[in-house]
Amino acid sequence: KQATYAAMRDVEPFTRDGTRIEVMMNAGLRDDIPMLSLTGADGIGLFRTEFQFLVSAALPQRDRQTRLYRDVLDAAGDKPVIFRTVDIGGDKSLPYLRSESSREDENPAMGWRALRLALEREGLLKVQARSLIEAAAGRCLNVMFPMVSEPWEFEAARAVFESQVAFLRQCRKTLPEAIRYGVMLEVPSLAEMLDVLVPRVSFISVGTNDLTQFLFAADRANPKLAERYDWVSPAILRFLRRVVAGTIGHPVQLGVCGEMGGRRLEALALLGVGIKRLSITPAAVGPIKELVRKVDMNEIGEAMTGWLANPPPDMRHALQKWAEEREI
Ligand code: PEP
Ligand code: MG
Repeated sequence: KQATYAAMRDVEPFTRDGTRIEVMMNAGLRDDIPMLSLTGADGIGLFRTEFQFLVSAALPQRDRQTRLYRDVLDAAGDKPVIFRTVDIGGDKSLPYLRSESSREDENPAMGWRALRLALEREGLLKVQARSLIEAAAGRCLNVMFPMVSEPWEFEAARAVFESQVAFLRQCRKTLPEAIRYGVMLEVPSLAEMLDVLVPRVSFISVGTNDLTQFLFAADRANPKLAERYDWVSPAILRFLRRVVAGTIGHPVQLGVCGEMGGRRLEALALLGVGIKRLSITPAAVGPIKELVRKVDMNEIGEAMTGWLANPPPDMRHALQKWAEEREI
């Protein structure tokens, strides 16, 4: 296995027509960090900070959070790390963080979770902001907010970070060299506000795990529905293509960090709609880099335009056939 990783580690993911695709990895625990050098990923496109909360018996204190974030940044060196603020609540509920109302969410995925919870539990977000800012002293900090449904939520979360920056500046602490803010696009309503959002953020990462369940109204945790909605369905791909179109002409970096990006035909479809940055499970980094090298971005883009204008009865089959014909 080590040898397989080594063989793919230094593969540069350029498409046949010379587009450099960024292939980053998802992570969440200290143990994931060695995978960055092992896989040769371009960085950590999604660091799920809630994992530390989920494995702790009590709310992780500021020094523990800071230590983890600093270790991740140290290990990543020059490679970018995108820290996502906690996505807890809903189904990732914590015994030490029960909602005051004690009423459980009936639809946890659509419930009081992620940024919705963090904006109300401002103490929690403040501590996390301060930990991240201190951990990134003297270097670049990338912060991403989960489950943003409307642009004001992004602004409110950024304001919490900026007030911590102001406080630490007063304390004469070393600040990050730069802070870049971004959002997860996983609630469909946010896509309707792209024109408002795009000029305000440095990056957008599409969370297709949640996005799919919200687009199809299909619980991602329900095995009865798992086979029913295909990640390469025209509905999702049309949606993603509109998002790509909505960012053209802006300096915003757009990527996909849902699990679909780590699968062969799904990744091919994402290239087809014009996605150039993926953040995927570490084991998929090597195989996806190799796939990228076999694809002509222009050619898959044209094929996708045809398919989305006139959807084939079975999109997966069409992609599979296209790939086979090109020995991909
Ligand atoms: C997503 O929703 O696609 C995502 C990447 O976030 P998570 O799986 O942690 O909800
Ligand atoms: Mg999500």
